[in-house]
Amino acid sequence: MIRYPILERQLRKQVEEVRPGWLERAAERTDSFRLRGRYEEDSSIWSEIKPAYMELQGYKCGFCERRLEKSRYGSIEHDVEHFRPKAKVKRWPGESDKDERGIDFEFALGDDADPGYFLLPYELENYVVSCKTCNSILKANYFPVGANRQVDGDRSRDLEDEDAYLIYPIGARDRDPEDLITFRGIVPIPVGVRGHKRKRAEVTIRFFELDTREVLLEERAETILELHIAMTAVGHPDPLTSRAASSAVDRLVERRSPHANCARSFHDLWLSDNLLAREFVEAALGYLESRS
Ligand SMILES: [Zn+2]
Repeated sequence: MIRYPILERQLRKQVEEVRPGWLERAAERTDSFRLRGRYEEDSSIWSEIKPAYMELQGYKCGFCERRLEKSRYGSIEHDVEHFRPKAKVKRWPGESDKDERGIDFEFALGDDADPGYFLLPYELENYVVSCKTCNSILKANYFPVGANRQVDGDRSRDLEDEDAYLIYPIGARDRDPEDLITFRGIVPIPVGVRGHKRKRAEVTIRFFELDTREVLLEERAETILELHIAMTAVGHPDPLTSRAASSAVDRLVERRSPHANCARSFHDLWLSDNLLAREFVEAALGYLESRS
């Protein structure tokens, strides 16, 4: 995961540009949920502003950093994910996650809730666009927390006391994902050695299966090989090769590029401990060759 920096007022402006009048319609709907004390409506309008988030996130999934379709067909691949579930919240891990995925943490991860976060279906800081695997299969209506849920909150940024485990990547209201998760080669690991910071990384990695999904591991291995080749070719005697290499390095570590956290971690290691970086190149190569 990586952060997509934007101020709240800029986000509002971009949403308004994508769909003029949307913010007002959204506010009216939120008022009706407040009156009813739960989320309830016949049809939703959040898909209308999906393009604003797709652009902001560089057409990547906000959780696993896979590149998704960019053209006018892109909308079908991106889901607008409610970070805090709008209707019911189910406790995580569920029984099937424990049985089939072997997930079991020693600390509390929160209980079921009904209603869920009924004032947040139309809050801009509660959206992330994500791939269908992250959204539909893994995120579903889960939202693990370390403290009491505050389902009647109407601003995500005021809900810090819930001690949410998952990391929110847009704007600066949550911690920078790169301060919590880094990479050893193609494998994500927690930055922190103990405490809530470490638990957040552990839960997020396990929750989205960031360390085991083959497509992610393969794409990251490709990224590492490309980056290694490009970094090695910077300063090549042929000016065109050197310029192309330099441009490739810049693009690979740009936050809007796929697997940017992995690429940046590798880039920094390549400069600080080249021997270890080379071991990761070997490992990435071995991993890809074993798949082919
Ligand atoms: Zn994803």
